[in-house]
Amino acid sequence: MKKILISFFLPIVIFANSCTLPSDIKSLIVKSGLISLKNYSDIKRNYRSLKGLCVDLISFKEGRFNWKMLLIFNPKAPRGAFWFLPHDNENSAFNSAVYATRKYGGGFLSVVAGGNRYFKGQDPNRNFSDSSVRVCSGQLAPSPIYTSIVFSIINNFRGVNMPYLALHNNTNRGGITILKSSKYAKSFLAYSVAEVKKGIGLADEDSLVYIAGSSFNPPIQKISTLIHLGLNVKYEIVNRNSNDCSMSNYVVIGRGSNNYYNIEAQHGKSVTQKRMIDLLMRLIR
Ligand SMILES: [Zn+2]
Repeated sequence: MKKILISFFLPIVIFANSCTLPSDIKSLIVKSGLISLKNYSDIKRNYRSLKGLCVDLISFKEGRFNWKMLLIFNPKAPRGAFWFLPHDNENSAFNSAVYATRKYGGGFLSVVAGGNRYFKGQDPNRNFSDSSVRVCSGQLAPSPIYTSIVFSIINNFRGVNMPYLALHNNTNRGGITILKSSKYAKSFLAYSVAEVKKGIGLADEDSLVYIAGSSFNPPIQKISTLIHLGLNVKYEIVNRNSNDCSMSNYVVIGRGSNNYYNIEAQHGKSVTQKRMIDLLMRLIR
């Protein structure tokens, strides 16, 4: 009789615990659940789409920075594509991450900074380094705790062989554009320059996927696959001298990996950004 009871109740217990996190991540949670987080504008805007997903606010302290981040994942398939969103002013990226999490499982970690790009003067995407001394000009203080917590959360959810993933929004014809190349960031266009200049959808100069590596020779195979999918590509060449403590630089230098994709789309262009996610998922799933 005892045996029958156990086998009958076990699946129910597993289901009830589907938003459960490993103890090291659980210990960072300050608020849990959609209702208690509904006043955050990213949550409010996506409230209906977030139903059925696990939603937690985590917090940790490093020096004068009391970091807060929203951790959102799909309880039906928690392991998979897991995105990092460092910039709280990039609302379309957040909307796109909710879409990706619902559709493909996995989840994302999004920095909370009152809707701003910077948190207390620090760009969250210039804050990655294991070092106990400051190594980048964009970094106000050493950040080994920030780096280790963000990456332990990413690695908890990142599926086997899944790349490190980021989502960003940029400004129309701003500093980031596929029409410009530099010594450390090479552009590869999926469309003719005339098509790119029309500024529509995937071809827009602001729609691009960043990849990164340490070699001055671009990974031609990977680039050509992305271009065939219809994605403009920027290859970032990373080395210790040019290290800017961004996530891409840390993945290459700190984690010894070239398996990184950052999907960039213009502010407000979440339809395009979701389309870009669908295309990239064909490649990395
Ligand atoms: Zn950004």
